[in-house]
Amino acid sequence: MKPRIVILGAGFGGLELATALSETHGDSLAVTLIERSDHFVFGFSKLDVLFGKRTADAVRISYATVVKPGVRLVRETVTAIDAANRRVTTDAGVHDADYLVIALGADYDVSQTPGVVLGDNEFYTLEGATRMRDVVARFDRGAAVVGLCGAPYKCPPAPSECALLLHDQLEKRGVRGACSIAIVSPLSTPVPPSPETSAALLSAFAERGIEYLASTRVVAVDRARQVIKLDNGTERPCQLFLGIPKNRAPDVVIAAGLTKDGWVTIDPHTLETPFAGVWAIGDLANTGAPKAGVFSEVAAKTVAANIGALLRGETPTAKYPGSGSCYIELGAERIARVDVDFFSGPKPTGRFYPPSIALRADKEQFATTRRARWFGQR
Ligand SMILES: Cc1cc2nc3c(=O)[nH]c(=O)nc-3n(C[C@H](O)[C@H](O)[C@H](O)COP(=O)(O)OP(=O)(O)OC[C@H]3O[C@@H](n4cnc5c(N)ncnc54)[C@H](O)[C@@H]3O)c2cc1C
Repeated sequence: MKPRIVILGAGFGGLELATALSETHGDSLAVTLIERSDHFVFGFSKLDVLFGKRTADAVRISYATVVKPGVRLVRETVTAIDAANRRVTTDAGVHDADYLVIALGADYDVSQTPGVVLGDNEFYTLEGATRMRDVVARFDRGAAVVGLCGAPYKCPPAPSECALLLHDQLEKRGVRGACSIAIVSPLSTPVPPSPETSAALLSAFAERGIEYLASTRVVAVDRARQVIKLDNGTERPCQLFLGIPKNRAPDVVIAAGLTKDGWVTIDPHTLETPFAGVWAIGDLANTGAPKAGVFSEVAAKTVAANIGALLRGETPTAKYPGSGSCYIELGAERIARVDVDFFSGPKPTGRFYPPSIALRADKEQFATTRRARWFGQR
């Protein structure tokens, strides 16, 4: 019998892991990739949708073209995980694994933030970004707030990018003077591991009159009174709320007893859970590194290498480096980059690359290479 590898979730982490295993082992493995959706969406595409650059249909990438030797992608919803026995239950049946990798991403919890509604006044789901596109397009006076309801959250620079892109759109429509823009963030600076990146963003905010409220969280949105409530007990006027809901591991993972404080407990270097042969990669794992697709990918490569070693009867030696490059929209069509490294030095670092034409091309290339590698799109 071929070794059975079951991967839960075909996002950045799951797709990269399935691809890497297929490349190295082909048909000699039985890899089952379990995914509830029929399409994948790059996180950054949600900003394109929010600001009307692309439609929701244009950014959905069908899983139908994920065809790889040794990999079977099944459209099922995971309903229970028995980590001790490496057994997964879905709405269609049961999958037993020799090696189990949980890559279900982060979910959103709006239960603690009254007034925040998924698919409505947030842009972290495709549904929310699509609905808010029309609301943003009509907004022409008053206070706009890009508001975070908790940390950690996916893609630390995304709220800053959202505020800068909103500024551009309001300018283009000639209504910027009648609107204010603020970011409410629990982080002390926009990109804490990189003082240079934070400085570039803070100076872009200052040039554009965007207010950055650091170390503050949105605790409620009162639409009737058009105010938001903050964790420091104050209120602010808000006519346009662009929310980032509190993030945490999906319910099915919490119900499996794998989490502490909302995130899966793993060894941050090997990404192993306390259960033998069970790993957790990507946004749902408590690695201490940022939650971003590039980090999920690196985690997938680490686990692929270690599963490969186990299959050969060797001791796994690959370590998760906690490093990756993030592209940052700085407004006015400019793209910068930060290379973040969490584990190689005594403290996290982030090297900043100022905006350039080459970086815009690099970002486009980033999406193109993943489309080719995971979906076979040339
Ligand atoms: C606005 C925005 C901008 C972003 N920009 C960037 C960026 O520029 N660069 C970057 O690197 N990252 C960016 N990100 C973050 C990035 O999208 C995530 O960090 C990344 O997708 C995480 O990968 P993952 O594999 O951990 O989880 P995901 O990619 O979220 O994949 C999880 C998968 O599991 C599936 N799933 C969940 N529950 C179940 C279940 N019960 N049964 C079956 N399937 C299930 C989901 O459908 C999903 O396909 C951005 C995110 C947002 C919201």
